[in-house]
Amino acid sequence: MRSLEDFARGTLSGIRTQGRMRQRRIVERWLGSEPIALVDGAQRLVFCSNDYLGLARDARVSQAFAAAARTHGAGSGASHLITGHSREHHALEEELAAFTGRARALLYSTGYMANLGVIGALAGREDRVFEDRLNHASLIDAALLSRAELVRYPHAQPAAVDAKLAAVGRGHALIATDGVFSMDGDLAPVAELAAIAQRREAWLMVDDAHGLGVLGDRGRGTLERADLDAASVPILMGTLGKAFGTCGAFVAGGSDLIELLLQTSRTQIYTTALPPALAAATRTALAIVAGADEERARLRAHIELFRREVTRLGLALLPSESPIQPIVFGSSERATAASDALWKRGLWVSAIRPPTVPDGTARLRVTLAANHSTQHVLRLIEALADLARAPQ
Ligand SMILES: *Cc1c(COP(=O)(O)O)cnc(C)c1O
Repeated sequence: MRSLEDFARGTLSGIRTQGRMRQRRIVERWLGSEPIALVDGAQRLVFCSNDYLGLARDARVSQAFAAAARTHGAGSGASHLITGHSREHHALEEELAAFTGRARALLYSTGYMANLGVIGALAGREDRVFEDRLNHASLIDAALLSRAELVRYPHAQPAAVDAKLAAVGRGHALIATDGVFSMDGDLAPVAELAAIAQRREAWLMVDDAHGLGVLGDRGRGTLERADLDAASVPILMGTLGKAFGTCGAFVAGGSDLIELLLQTSRTQIYTTALPPALAAATRTALAIVAGADEERARLRAHIELFRREVTRLGLALLPSESPIQPIVFGSSERATAASDALWKRGLWVSAIRPPTVPDGTARLRVTLAANHSTQHVLRLIEALADLARAPQ
């Protein structure tokens, strides 16, 4: 038998020869609430975090966290069904339900776990789960773990879903999609999917990790923008680690659905509840998000400016109206070289390579945030202009 060390070395050398080794950077600290990190002794202007509204280090959110920690301590001590469900968790669930316009909401410790827990509770051996090819890894893994048949359809092609749904299955059918695709930034055709789900009697689940707080006139996300109600999309999943700036996730829906998840969803039951202080901080963040019209308008202006100028440079943008604005370079080497060149100029934009994205579509995943200033965005555009001019 191969030794463990041998196995690890062999696997790693394969990853290395494919140019797919990844590396973590150590953030010393951040500069107040600005999107500027101190790394390797220098300031880096960050264009790749998911903190779209700049709430991760917002003083109001941090203070709510500290104040609640004085009352509730650092940890919850148990799962929700034992002693871990605090007043702060409960209030947050009610406020998330109100924010999303649904009867109830249920907290999970991460978005990854929420997706595993929801699909695991709603689909089994007899059932089929339909997923967009570019869905987040957690949705794909959730279907695999559920033991249902996983049917993947070509990206954003509702007609393909419809055709695949036409084949008769034994159990029920669940369609699960990202609202905003996390590596591309484009929106799922949710209205078409909702119509198909209704016609074919399938259930529709939208993971709106990147839409909530950002899209729609009132920040209610992809479904607000598409003008879809809870009847059309009965299962809404959202994460708290992106626009809300904290961490955790929730599922919102009808009261029976939520009660069923509370009773049977394994990643909700067999895990420690989030720290109550984190729930308190998220309540403050949620109140800010609900009123953040100005921040959303600033973000939209950044997106428009960025797209206009980068298109002019002849770089390949994807059709995205979200804060995720990837620039596709093709090979991993080119994307990495672009990221390195920006890094040398004090700009942090990570390169996303296969297997996270399909072969030949390595990219810089630029994300914009409301706490960027126009000057910040212009600095990035200027650096990209130099990149575009440099001989390849
Ligand atoms: C980030 C993300 C998740 C996972 O959420 P975590 O809370 O980070 O585990 C799930 N789905 C999508 C679409 C995401 O972007």
